[in-house]
Amino acid sequence: MAGVRGQGPGGLLTAEIGLSAPWLEEREEELVLETLRSGQLSLGPMIDRFEAALAERVGAPYVAAVSSGTAGLHLAVRLAGLGEGDEVVTTPFSFVASANCVLYEGATPVFADIDPRTLNLAPAAVEAAITPRTKAILPVDIFGYPAEHAELEAIAERHGLALVEDACEALGAEYQCRPLGSRGAPATFAFYPNKQMTTGEGGAVAVQSEDDWATLKSLSNQGRSDSGEWLTHSRLGYNYRLDDLSAALGLAQLEKLDRILELRAEVAARYAELLGGMDAVTLPLEDDADHKRSWFVYVVQLADGINRNGVMAKLAEQGIASKPYLPSIHLQPYWRERFGTKEGMFPVSEDASRRSLALPFHTRLVRADQERVAEALAASLR
Ligand SMILES: *Cc1c(COP(=O)(O)O)cnc(C)c1O
Repeated sequence: MAGVRGQGPGGLLTAEIGLSAPWLEEREEELVLETLRSGQLSLGPMIDRFEAALAERVGAPYVAAVSSGTAGLHLAVRLAGLGEGDEVVTTPFSFVASANCVLYEGATPVFADIDPRTLNLAPAAVEAAITPRTKAILPVDIFGYPAEHAELEAIAERHGLALVEDACEALGAEYQCRPLGSRGAPATFAFYPNKQMTTGEGGAVAVQSEDDWATLKSLSNQGRSDSGEWLTHSRLGYNYRLDDLSAALGLAQLEKLDRILELRAEVAARYAELLGGMDAVTLPLEDDADHKRSWFVYVVQLADGINRNGVMAKLAEQGIASKPYLPSIHLQPYWRERFGTKEGMFPVSEDASRRSLALPFHTRLVRADQERVAEALAASLR
């Protein structure tokens, strides 16, 4: 998007304000360079350092680093033993990967509608979607806001179901004062460059036992046996390895994660101040005693009757990026074709999808740019 210009106040050309941007500094360069010079670019010590630091940060005894959040979700579904004929209850209001990972193993995603406040799975809808074939619940902490984990755990316990958590948007978020990843269910995190912290491409799964960790490491390394014999493959695996250069980048990002989350919370607070007076705009849900969000994106809901495409076009004229975030998964073309899903099946999710708009949001976004966004948004609504 570099080089794209908008017409600012007074006809001056102003720089484009992008949707997201990673925050990379000297420490990232230093650790990547150290790895480059070490010559150990895969299966090296940087992976161990990254996994140990991440495990400590999310309060889990073990973390397995993998090549993407999607790869991590796939392996978490495999770890739960889900397959042909098994149903997994999950949310339609998510990025497609959280439902695709169930399809990869031949199991069937069954959607339950969301809570209009939190935009996360509504526990009552989850309970209503359970059948004798249900084997697991897969909650997503959407936009970094923790799902109703205690209630979902109680449902899983009552019905004898596994839990697989998609925390790909929620690194650093806390539920009932504990970090996501520490509650017991395998939790997957993701490090694509638009996330809170990045490894370029990358992901990780937090688990409670060394056995689960070893299984994940084996699955991500072509199913190699734990004995370390390079050409002994004890199971069908994948190449889902994270490389050491990416892990080095991740380690540098992790070292400053607290600062990243603090700055993102400050950016969000400034938006709340700038957009708070607009009648046609509903701001993201605030934290409460049980839920502490980790700010991933800044998504507002536009009032009924507002033409979202028109708003986005007017923002674009001013050089401001925005996105209709997120479309409901069950209305994606391949989903409609394969499962015959259609409008009206999950009305809360569909309503959120119709009205939500992601504004430019990242760790280093400055007030002046946020003021431009606020002014352009206000003008587009008049
Ligand atoms: C980012 C994300 C993922 C994983 O994405 P990758 O690009 O594979 O790292 C999975 N689920 C959700 C909800 C996400 O936002």
